[in-house]
Amino acid sequence: MTVTATVHGYPRQGADRELKKAIEGYWKGRTDAATLHATAAELRRTAWLQLAGAGLTEVPTGHFSYYDHVLDTSVMLGAVPPRHRAAVAADPLDGYFAMARGTQDVAPLEMTKWFDTNYHYLVPELGPDTRFSADPARQLAELAEARALGLTARPVLLGPVTYLLLAKPAPGVPAGFAPLTLLDRLLPVYAEILTALHAAGAEWVQLDEPALVQDRTPAELNAAARAYRELGAHPGRPRLLVASYFDRLGEALPVLAAAPVEGLALDFTGRAAANLGDLAAAGGLPGKRLVAGVVDGRNVWVNDLQQSLTTLGTLLGLADRVDVSSSCSLLHVPLDVAAERDLDPQVARWLSFARQKTTEIAVLARGLARGTDTIAAELAANRAALATRAGSALTHDPAVRARAAAVTPADTRRALPYPDRAEAQRARLGLPLLPTTTIGSFPQTGDLRTARADLRAGRTDTGAYEERIAAEIREVIAFQEKTGLDVLVHGEPERNDMVQYFAEQLTGYLATRHGWVQSYGTRYVRPPILAGDISRPGPMTVRWTSYAQSLTSRPVKGMLTGPVTMLAWSFVRDDQPLAETARQVALALRDEVADLEAAGTAVIQVDEPALRETLPLRSADHAGYLAWATEAFRLTTAGVRPDTQIHTHMCYAEFGDVLPAIDDLDADVISLEAARSHMQVAGELAGAGYPREVGPGVYDIHSPRVPDPEEAADLLRTGLAAIPPERLWVNPDCGLKTRGWPETRTALEHMVAAARTVRAELAGGFGA
Ligand code: GLN
Ligand code: ZN
Repeated sequence: MTVTATVHGYPRQGADRELKKAIEGYWKGRTDAATLHATAAELRRTAWLQLAGAGLTEVPTGHFSYYDHVLDTSVMLGAVPPRHRAAVAADPLDGYFAMARGTQDVAPLEMTKWFDTNYHYLVPELGPDTRFSADPARQLAELAEARALGLTARPVLLGPVTYLLLAKPAPGVPAGFAPLTLLDRLLPVYAEILTALHAAGAEWVQLDEPALVQDRTPAELNAAARAYRELGAHPGRPRLLVASYFDRLGEALPVLAAAPVEGLALDFTGRAAANLGDLAAAGGLPGKRLVAGVVDGRNVWVNDLQQSLTTLGTLLGLADRVDVSSSCSLLHVPLDVAAERDLDPQVARWLSFARQKTTEIAVLARGLARGTDTIAAELAANRAALATRAGSALTHDPAVRARAAAVTPADTRRALPYPDRAEAQRARLGLPLLPTTTIGSFPQTGDLRTARADLRAGRTDTGAYEERIAAEIREVIAFQEKTGLDVLVHGEPERNDMVQYFAEQLTGYLATRHGWVQSYGTRYVRPPILAGDISRPGPMTVRWTSYAQSLTSRPVKGMLTGPVTMLAWSFVRDDQPLAETARQVALALRDEVADLEAAGTAVIQVDEPALRETLPLRSADHAGYLAWATEAFRLTTAGVRPDTQIHTHMCYAEFGDVLPAIDDLDADVISLEAARSHMQVAGELAGAGYPREVGPGVYDIHSPRVPDPEEAADLLRTGLAAIPPERLWVNPDCGLKTRGWPETRTALEHMVAAARTVRAELAGGFGA
């Protein structure tokens, strides 16, 4: 029996993020296009040779990208928005980057999250006038490159149904326009591209349809059936492998199983493991190729090889041919554990990044084809690694576990209801109507980043660095006092990143040196790894918060990252439910909240920008997620005195589907993004009967534009139409870390002026 070993995609950046450097060099004019193309070709070559060297017998092509594969698909389909056409015609590469990043005169495509990952794609803009045309040049070139290396190559394209479902109506097109209505126009273009790839030597082509793992209407499922019926009937096409990942296919499984395509690739990891039972219940895939995603492409843990072999063994009876793969593209994990020389070797054995995962896949394919005795040594090593992880003191801290098990519902509820707390807080804080505040961070200047880099590199000592931070805090406090803000912040100058800063101080978290993962374009992040039981060796924020408070008599707001966000922007453990991990993180943060309160902090903000984005892909899973997520937030915050004010912050305004959960957080004050949508969120909250205090942003911090006082005052008046003055706060949309000082200064001065104007109007007099 032959079993193919493959993956759906691989990290693009290179071992040393060469791609980022080459592209940014090109943007700055330091690198020419020819050099960029040569660097990219070399990175592709290295990646394919790595895959083949690891034992993969079929490699993907077309997964590489200078920015994003959804943008590449728009280019391949001729779906370039009218405003970018001239630039693309003048220079395809510059036009491509203009679509991604915009120019002085032309706005870029909108960017949003790729399903529930931290990768972002550029949203296709389509309308009734969109005409597609096939441009398979890049796909053909990559296929030729891989074939020239003597490899069996399988082009991977984003499928037509998912492409349309990810699109949005172009500017000027009515919001009710459904891009999926363009399917009939799109399919012939896909057929043409498929035929070209077949003629160029591709036996198989993969079409990715991850959108089919989400809740889909019968009409959408019909569209999928029609798409593959038509593509399947096209003469001259290659064999088609339709791939889905990130969750179970559910109702879409019978649709794809019945389609006239030769193969399906399914995810059998995590939530998607339900595909196994669903597939058996549906009678399997007789006559088809099944590419089994048994190695998780989204986590960083070694595979349980024995368990994967059991899954593969079951699948053998359900399809004509079973191949082994990752669950999704390996784009979502770092490249190579071997680069992590600072990690404890004991712990490094538990980890598997992209390179290690390809080896696991090759081993599984060999075991499946030739029998498990041919991989006995690998199985033994794998068992040993899993056993050390399961038995380690890092993953099993009895004190942490006992405390988490002892949590009671009372621990997750404030002692008094909001109206009583609000009264106590009013008495303690003595704030004016429409109190002004900010979201936490002040500009992270190049100078601060240099100071941090100098500390890391040993060019400065801790004392000098800390004096630099203290000086920054003095400046931030003085500025806020002078400007007349009511609730101050220390400005977060000591924080590199709102998750990493805490991860570095918590036991149970690991940091990587080279674990870069693409977030969007040339932006890469290094998510910390939540590897073990979480505990807090000591206070994490009390020192700088107290220092800031010592400089002023106005209240300084303590600033923490919430438990849901701590999980969402990390690699999480796969050996216990997320709810349990969240509870451990919440307990550590609860202690921090208690320490801040004991140090005299009267206002504490717990940021949860990731609450909405972590919502599971299928609505059936929403309630379960929101239950543990809100519980973790309350466990973090509910231990405080009634007169300590709890704030939370979220960076978005579209939260219609999580509104009850936001209420359930029971925070005293919530700040949200609202400037761009003209306070729409205030009306929505009021309409839903939200009973507590709200700070809808009046300053759009995503733009260097400074709102003038009258504009901010108008936004406040709009806010007041929905929220009574005793419950309305005045703040920017989000933190100011990405802004420069000059615009921050003016914008906050204008914001305070606006608050004073509107307060005076409320008092029916002049001046406040
Ligand atoms: N307190 C953080 C800041 O001001 C919040 C950032 C966020 O919500 N993304 O930067
Ligand atoms: Zn924010």
